[in-house]
Amino acid sequence: MDLGLSGRWAVVCASSKGLGFGCAISLAQEGVNLVMNARSADVLEQAAAQIRGQTGVEVRAIAADITTIDGRAQVLAACPQVDILINNAGGPPPGDFRNWTRDDWVKALDGNMLTPIELIKATVDGMIARRFGRIVNITSSSVKAPIEVLGLSNGARSGLTGFVAGLARQTVKHNVTINNLLPGVFDTDRIRATAQAMATRQGQTLEETLAARARSIPAGRLGNPYEFGQACAYLCSAQASYVTGQNFLIDGGTYPGTT
Ligand code: NAP
Repeated sequence: MDLGLSGRWAVVCASSKGLGFGCAISLAQEGVNLVMNARSADVLEQAAAQIRGQTGVEVRAIAADITTIDGRAQVLAACPQVDILINNAGGPPPGDFRNWTRDDWVKALDGNMLTPIELIKATVDGMIARRFGRIVNITSSSVKAPIEVLGLSNGARSGLTGFVAGLARQTVKHNVTINNLLPGVFDTDRIRATAQAMATRQGQTLEETLAARARSIPAGRLGNPYEFGQACAYLCSAQASYVTGQNFLIDGGTYPGTT
């Protein structure tokens, strides 16, 4: 299926690796030009070069912290016209809420709620004026099924979800949609780092810990960031203009409920 996106421009935040990279390459394969972003310039430049080489689209790489005002300004300035916005950033650390300070909460809210809202604010009216826009926020399965040790993430991402639920119904009549993609467990550096810490604690190898994790998922495996990116590309497609305000769980069947 041709997704009708050739020649469009996308800002894909936090995209040198993992789920963000999966979204970036999937959009590029549809002919979308990219502004990619991450903090580490060398890893980002390698990722951008790979996508340029494989797809031939124009890719601009902006090394900056997307959770800062200056970082967001640099990323937006690099994009001639934001047709597609993929919001992403690192997730907050795990822990016990009794140990979290107000500053810990402000940092989590800044990264996983206010940063995407600021980027939406900066881009949505242009999308409305041009009568095309697709915004996808990478959130987490924890929005539907909160994860005990990830209270900072549960809280901040739920705030974004609530905000988006209201706005997405106001923009859709202008062909501007806003949806959230909720990853379960995907095989990324972040998940491997968490698994390595758990393996060390339990006296296991990384492979044993990852295999145990895979057995707990009905699909019997971890997700691949590319399959996540393919779902993102569909949500950004011309055909998906009637889909807005949705929370799409991609978790290999882990969430057991019907809604
Ligand atoms: P990852 O493999 O560690 O990749 C994270 C990417 O984001 C890297 O490119 C990283 O590059 C960039 N990044 C992180 N913080 C940034 C910042 N402040 N500004 C700009 N770029 C930044 O992580 P992932 O697994 O893809 O996770 C992406 C998001 O999905 C996270 O919020 C995570 O909590 C959430 N999530 C992931 C899973 C999963 O199974 N993987 C499940 C649920 C939720 P630099 O470090 O160079 O900046």
